[in-house]
Amino acid sequence: MAPVLVLVESAEGSPADVSLQALTLARSFAGGEPLEVLQIDPDPGAAENLGDYGVVSAHIADHEGIGSFGPDAWAATVIQLADGISAGAVFAAATDRGNDIMARVGARLGLPVAVNCIAISAGSPITLTRQRWGGSLLEEALLHSPRPLVTVALHTVVIERVAGSKQVEVLHSRADVNERDLRVRPAEHVAAPSGGVSLAEAKVVVSGGRGVGSKEGFAIIEELAGLLGAAVGCSRVVTSAGWRPHTDQVGQTGTKIAPDLYIACGISGATQHMAGCKGAKRILAINSDAEAPIMLNADYAVVGDLKEILPAISAEIRKAR
Ligand SMILES: Cc1cc2nc3c(=O)[nH]c(=O)nc-3n(C[C@H](O)[C@H](O)[C@H](O)COP(=O)(O)OP(=O)(O)OC[C@H]3O[C@@H](n4cnc5c(N)ncnc54)[C@H](O)[C@@H]3O)c2cc1C
Repeated sequence: MAPVLVLVESAEGSPADVSLQALTLARSFAGGEPLEVLQIDPDPGAAENLGDYGVVSAHIADHEGIGSFGPDAWAATVIQLADGISAGAVFAAATDRGNDIMARVGARLGLPVAVNCIAISAGSPITLTRQRWGGSLLEEALLHSPRPLVTVALHTVVIERVAGSKQVEVLHSRADVNERDLRVRPAEHVAAPSGGVSLAEAKVVVSGGRGVGSKEGFAIIEELAGLLGAAVGCSRVVTSAGWRPHTDQVGQTGTKIAPDLYIACGISGATQHMAGCKGAKRILAINSDAEAPIMLNADYAVVGDLKEILPAISAEIRKAR
């Protein structure tokens, strides 16, 4: 088999956990064949520890216009590199960006893309399991493709390191992209309003739903999140009402998260919301309704009015410090 190429995204200068999960699944698929990555982050330092995950070479595409987002430019770059190293398969994390780029790679090559995979075995045909319907259904599928294009469902694979890590070779090459490839590209980067803690990567998330009652009501959610160094999340009702930006939404049509602790306040626990937070190690639900569906998934529950409970928790944390 030929090398397996993995598209790697970064978070705060290091490879994102979701990309390390994709690398882990790609390595098991590669079965000992070389693992090479294409880094979206142009900083060679981000590749430093990739040897721990079995990577032999990290490629950095140099082009002043390409930036961190530009799905057609990245699709063109993935294809050039995959052809250049004769990659047998291409993997990426199933982030919005990963799925967007891989869909364009598939369209350009006329090849199928298997998205949201949680398991995959090499063979002819390839067998795989992938999430459908926001993770509420698992599909067993056969993939017939000369070059499998795969995205790995977020937070479904346990990151594994290799024994005896090797030095990663960092290789720069000029990305050959044209004006057409650069038609969709970032015009401006707007920092997340939650003060830098990324929702997707946060270890603690404090989230609010319709029960919070208003945009201003989120002050007590933000206060607790600030004390815990947590990210703020919310349900779709909240984003639809304009109380919070869509970037804060957790769920099937929002961000999929896997924090150590998810504190869900005034959220009923609809299937589409749970699709985004079921990767959480622990869920604490604060809800006035003891029969709310989220109680079935919660590890801890407080039944009561969040407007009383949240300030009380924050006050206790302050007292303890
Ligand atoms: C195709 C599709 C995709 C969707 N994608 C998403 C998604 O990505 N994310 C998402 O969240 N939803 C999504 N939804 C919407 C989802 O079905 C629910 O409508 C939504 O999650 C409900 O939000 P909620 O829990 O905030 O509101 P509600 O269901 O109205 O629940 C409010 C909860 O607050 C509690 N409450 C009220 N007052 C208080 C109080 N003072 N103190 C404590 N508790 C209180 C109530 O008991 C209730 O349990 C999607 C729907 C569809 C059809």
